[in-house]
Amino acid sequence: MLQACRLCRSDKLTLWMREGPNRDLDYYRCGRCGLWNYDIDCGVDQVQYVETYVSPENLHHKTNKDIRESWAFLRRHAGDPGAILDIGCGNGGLLYLARKEGWRVRGMELTEKAARDIAEDQGIDVIVGDFLDYDNPDSDVYDVVVLRHVLEHLPDPIRAMRKIDSLLTENGLALLEFPNTRSLSYVYKRLRKNWGLQRGKYPPDWRPGHCNEFCRRTFRYLLRETGFELLIWQTYSKRPVMNGVYRMIPIASKARALVRKAAG
Ligand SMILES: [Zn+2]
Repeated sequence: MLQACRLCRSDKLTLWMREGPNRDLDYYRCGRCGLWNYDIDCGVDQVQYVETYVSPENLHHKTNKDIRESWAFLRRHAGDPGAILDIGCGNGGLLYLARKEGWRVRGMELTEKAARDIAEDQGIDVIVGDFLDYDNPDSDVYDVVVLRHVLEHLPDPIRAMRKIDSLLTENGLALLEFPNTRSLSYVYKRLRKNWGLQRGKYPPDWRPGHCNEFCRRTFRYLLRETGFELLIWQTYSKRPVMNGVYRMIPIASKARALVRKAAG
């Protein structure tokens, strides 16, 4: 059983959601900062997310549609082209779009294969490694760092934000996207899991990949602890037609946050 919240170290934890075929994979919600902490001693599986390579020029693929929305958001707010690092860059699609507009681009991925696919197809440099262990041997810095659907997979969010800080220029920006626990779909998901309505859909050895789940309040706590300022918070869904509504009522299943490294 989890003893303390991985974000604020509080021991005010409530058993919040039970996942998996036997409903024995436990999430605890922190009463202080609101983080949903998955008990990683129950086992984690990050390999389930490994994808086959899709060219960024395949405009109809879902991956590339999502990426175009992220890039449209980022280019509106990021200012003049500079250097950008995309951590967990997937097929390199966001970097592909950024480079077209004059950005100097670099990616990071966990596997040699992902890096090689991107390098061979697009000639983009991709660092192979685990972000939390990356020691930035040449002390490179970037104007923008991107983590799309990565933060929730990292067990130590404080360390993750400090790493981002070390990779940014002064006043540099970071774009982060992750699930939003204060969403209708998470309320529904929690009820389904806790009532055991989806037990049949899991393979027997299934394990989650998300270690930590955030809402706006929890994410702001993380930013305060690590010296970042929240510039924009919005939520979005797979249904573009609903996203206008979600700009006003931020209860969509995914969150998009633009943050700035504090000066000095
Ligand atoms: Zn906490």
